[in-house]
Amino acid sequence: MTVLMRPKPLDGFKVREFKMLIDGKWTAGAEGKAIERASPGHGAVVSRYEAATAIDANRAIASARKAFDDGHWPRMTGAERSRILLRAADIIDARADELAFLDCIESGKPISQAKGELGGAADIWRYAAALARDLHGESYNTLGDGTLGVVLREAIGVVSIITPWNFPFLIVSQKLPFALAAGCTAVVKPSELTSGSTLVLGEILEAAGVPQGVVNIIVGTGPEAGAPLTSHPDIDMVSFTGSTGIGKLTMANAAQTLKKVSLELGGKNPQIVFPDANLDDFVDAAVFGAYFNAGECCNAGSRLIVHRDVADEVTSRVAALSAKVKVGDPLDPSTQVGAIITPQHLAKIVGYVKGASENGARVAVGGSAADLGLGQFMEPTILSSVAPDMAVAKEEVFGPVLSVLAFETTDEAIRIANSIDYGLSAGVWSRDFDTCLTVGRRVRAGTVWMNTFMDGASELPFGGYRQSGIGRELGRHAVEDYTETKTLNMHIGPRTGHWMPKEARG
Ligand code: NAD
Repeated sequence: MTVLMRPKPLDGFKVREFKMLIDGKWTAGAEGKAIERASPGHGAVVSRYEAATAIDANRAIASARKAFDDGHWPRMTGAERSRILLRAADIIDARADELAFLDCIESGKPISQAKGELGGAADIWRYAAALARDLHGESYNTLGDGTLGVVLREAIGVVSIITPWNFPFLIVSQKLPFALAAGCTAVVKPSELTSGSTLVLGEILEAAGVPQGVVNIIVGTGPEAGAPLTSHPDIDMVSFTGSTGIGKLTMANAAQTLKKVSLELGGKNPQIVFPDANLDDFVDAAVFGAYFNAGECCNAGSRLIVHRDVADEVTSRVAALSAKVKVGDPLDPSTQVGAIITPQHLAKIVGYVKGASENGARVAVGGSAADLGLGQFMEPTILSSVAPDMAVAKEEVFGPVLSVLAFETTDEAIRIANSIDYGLSAGVWSRDFDTCLTVGRRVRAGTVWMNTFMDGASELPFGGYRQSGIGRELGRHAVEDYTETKTLNMHIGPRTGHWMPKEARG
């Protein structure tokens, strides 16, 4: 039986009102639209945002364009930009509790986890600040005495940044500081479900000294506020994180003006377990990998691919530990699994479980929505006897639902792991280093963890193979993503080897 932490009503809570940041001014939407956000864990409205339509999106784009074409930001030294990004990181630290509270109350994630994400985000801003000083091209003095080749890295221009609801502050922090480090200007659109912390980031950047118009932040639905950011001719690059379906739409829209796109999309990540693995470590990592952020995580380890010799033992140990996970009030510091983002999404998760059990999967633990009086919650759920072709084994459930599939040979494990459209991340568990490396090399995924799961660092690139995305975030090349390459081909001294003969040239 799952440990349930009933949410307390938000009595006396003052709804927070947010405006958008366009051209350095906090402003209302041109068409008077607003979005109210109810807390997933409490069912009460907690935020009210002014909402953008294409009119506001176009104003924000014009502001970012002007700031890029005529403003100081792209022309500053890397050291100046770096100092501002470092100041931003310090202010993020100073306002971390407020930001974590907003992410917790708007997304339903546990408060302890939200605080951890804030620490990670501030670290990324500092890492990007360091890279701002190290952005460099190449030079070639090997092209002959008369030629010097210089390859510049120039800011790509105006970047639109579109983010999802599941890690609101962390994901904007995986994009914006690198774009700023390169000298770009930006229009940011967070998810309309969790825009609060991104809007506070606007205040932080103003206080840190980012000039007016360099960062514009609009709130709104995808079709109304997001779509213009993927198609407007004045946008040079779209950096998008979200579902694979909207990622494809984004790429199609961007193709009309051949914008560069960076896409961080869905995942259905396997954890492959061999009989010689340290099962104590694995069982804990399996539960963490499946239920972290209520499974609403692109990196969720939602497919356990377990060797048949240990499949029963693994299933019963993971089920026993799952039953001890604390589910409920996102504001309770001891909660491990918070609320589900919307009632509609909860119904979708329950539907996946129902479909799987109708097709022969067994519910080893959980399986239902958890009624905690307020908000919407899901029991941590394990499905065993799952076949690789079931929807629950191939599609992103995006909830605390773990499917267990069995394998006999290493080839079969790799085949199952690679048999789906996604390729974001994977885990391999074995005490044998050859097994880990062999499987790690053959699994088609952007990150492979070995005897651990979901560890990350600002230094390590992150992104997906196949339909999990295009491009990588983080790591030392992250700033280069927001640049164009320009070649300067310079001639030194009198030119030789003219095209037209001397007689003709006179
Ligand atoms: P989503 O695709 O529904 O929305 C993402 C963003 O796109 C939101 O801001 C939304 O308003 C906007 N959007 C929607 N329609 C649009 C349109 N027509 N034009 C432009 N923008 C539009 O995704 P979501 O439900 O917010 O987030 C969950 C998804 O994000 C999951 O699939 C998850 O795997 C993925 N995700 C991926 C990563 C990663 O790093 N690979 C990280 C987190 C989440």
